Amino acid sequence: MPLDLTRHRKDCRSCGASIVMAASTSTGNTMPVDYTPDPQRGTVLLQVNSKGALVAGVLTRTKLAAARAAGAELRTAHHATCPHADQHRRKR
Ligand SMILES: [Zn+2]
Repeated sequence: MPLDLTRHRKDCRSCGASIVMAASTSTGNTMPVDYTPDPQRGTVLLQVNSKGALVAGVLTRTKLAAARAAGAELRTAHHATCPHADQHRRKR
């Protein structure tokens, strides 16, 4: 079932693209993820955890293949698509 991300939607401060902020399940850091799914290039699976917060799992190759096969809604990390990704990195 697709996630309803409407209330999580934000604009990237660098390029104005629609993004969502989600906590990485591996690092716990908040990361920007593209709002629009990208089934071809996406490696990030967004989920809502038990506390209602948006979390982002970056899938490994095996899990990625399984998720694609299952028709999961995958997205790309906005670092990968933002034309001003350098500015994101400098802020951290
Ligand atoms: Zn951007």
